[in-house]
Amino acid sequence: MADVVVVLNAGSSSLKFSVFAQDAEGDKPICRGQAEALTTAPRFVAKDATGNVLDERSWGEGVPLGHAGALDHLVAFLQRRLAGHRLVAVGHRVVHGGTEYRRPIHIDAEVVATLQKYIPLAPLHQPHNLAPIRALLEQAPELPQVACFDTAFHRAAPTVSQMFALPKSITDRGVLRYGFHGLSYEYIASVLPQYDAQAAAGRTVVLHLGNGSSMCAMAGGRSIASTMGFTAVDGLPMGTRCGSLDPGVILYLIDQLKMDTRAVEKLICQQSGLLGVSGISSDMRTLLASEAAGAKAAVDLFAYRIQRELGSLAAALGGLDAIVFTAGIGENSAVLRERVCRGAAWLGLQLDDLANAGGGPRISAPGSKVAAWVIPTNEELMIARHTRRLLGAVTGDHAATPGATTGASMARSTAS
Ligand code: ADP
Repeated sequence: MADVVVVLNAGSSSLKFSVFAQDAEGDKPICRGQAEALTTAPRFVAKDATGNVLDERSWGEGVPLGHAGALDHLVAFLQRRLAGHRLVAVGHRVVHGGTEYRRPIHIDAEVVATLQKYIPLAPLHQPHNLAPIRALLEQAPELPQVACFDTAFHRAAPTVSQMFALPKSITDRGVLRYGFHGLSYEYIASVLPQYDAQAAAGRTVVLHLGNGSSMCAMAGGRSIASTMGFTAVDGLPMGTRCGSLDPGVILYLIDQLKMDTRAVEKLICQQSGLLGVSGISSDMRTLLASEAAGAKAAVDLFAYRIQRELGSLAAALGGLDAIVFTAGIGENSAVLRERVCRGAAWLGLQLDDLANAGGGPRISAPGSKVAAWVIPTNEELMIARHTRRLLGAVTGDHAATPGATTGASMARSTAS
C-alpha cells in the first residue's frame, strides 16, 4: 500500500490539488488538478502525471459551488482514486505565516487560531487558505495537516531589508516587508546546486514571473531581499496588480477621486498591472502576440521594472553570480528573457540566443560573468517534501505518523 500526501492550494476562486506518492526515493506526482471559477461557472479537472484527464466536471453558469462544495467533490474523487493507497497527510499552501512561523508547521487548533490573526495582513488569500484546513480538522481530526508558508523563506532576511521607515509603534504591529512566493524560491534554492554549484553558494537573483511576479535575492541559498513587501501587491507590475506605487497615489485616489478602500483595493489588485496598462489582457502571451500600442506599453513597463529591480537586488547582494528565470513567463517566454538579459549586460550577463530560444536550462553564453538559467519551479513538490519531513511520513516510518489514515477513511469522514 503506497503512502500518499495531498497538497492543497486554496485561492480566492480556485482549489488546486496535487497528489504525491512517497517512498524512500522521494515524492512522485501521481495526479493533480483543480476546481476553478468556484463562484461563477465552476469546473473540476483532474489529470494523471502524464496529463491524461482522469475526471472532469462543469457545474454551469451561476452555480456557486464555493470552496466547501469543491472540497467535497475533491474528496469524493480522491476516495475513488486513492483506494488502495494510504493517505498520510495533507500539506497546505498558506500565504501568511506572519512573524511567528519561519518554517512549515504541523497544524492544530492553536495554529489555526494564530493564522486567523494574520487574515488582516492577507485578506484576499488567508481566509481561503484556512477554509479547507478548518473543514478537514473538523471532519477528519485524525488526519495530519501541515501548513507551508509563502512568507517563511524570507523571515531570516536581514532586519533592514524587512523594515519600512515607519514609526516603531507601527512596525511593532507587524507592518513589515514579509515577501512572498517563498515556496517557489525555496524550491529553486533546493535544486540550484544541481545546475550551478557556484551560484548556489554565491549571489543569485531568482525571477518568479507569472500572473503574480516577484524577484528574490539569495545569498548562499537564503533570501536576503525580495521585491514583494507587506502584501503581494508590492514590487513588479503583475497580471492585474500594480506593483510598487507611491503611497501618495493612494491618498490622491481617496481624497481627490473619492474612492473608498474597497474600490482602491479592486483597482490595485484586479484592474492594474499588465491588464490595466494594456487595456487588453493580463496574459503575457496575448500581449506579446498583439500589435496594439497598449500591449507594447505593458510589456515595456514590465521589462523595465524587472531591470530596475535586478539592479537593486544585485546591489543588496553586493554583486551577482547568476539569475534564474522561473514560473509561467520566466519558464516559457524567450522574448521576455531576452529583454531582461539584454538589460543586464551592464552586470556582465551575455545571453546565448540559441540556448534561450531552446529554453535552457543554461541561457548565458560561455564566459558570461553572470550566469542565466531557466529552471521550472515546483511549489507543490516543496510542500509535499516539507509535509513528509515534518511528519516523518515515509514508507517504513509509519509509527511517526500519528493517526495516518487511508484515502477512503479520510474521504468518508470529510464527506460526512
Ligand atoms: P500563476 O502566478 O497564476 O501561477 P503562471 O506561473 O502559470 O501564473 O504564469 C502565467 C503567465 O505565464 C501568464 O501571463 C501567461 O501568459 C504566461 N505564459 C505562459 N506561457 C507563456 C509563453 N509561452 N510565452 C509568454 N508567456 C507565457
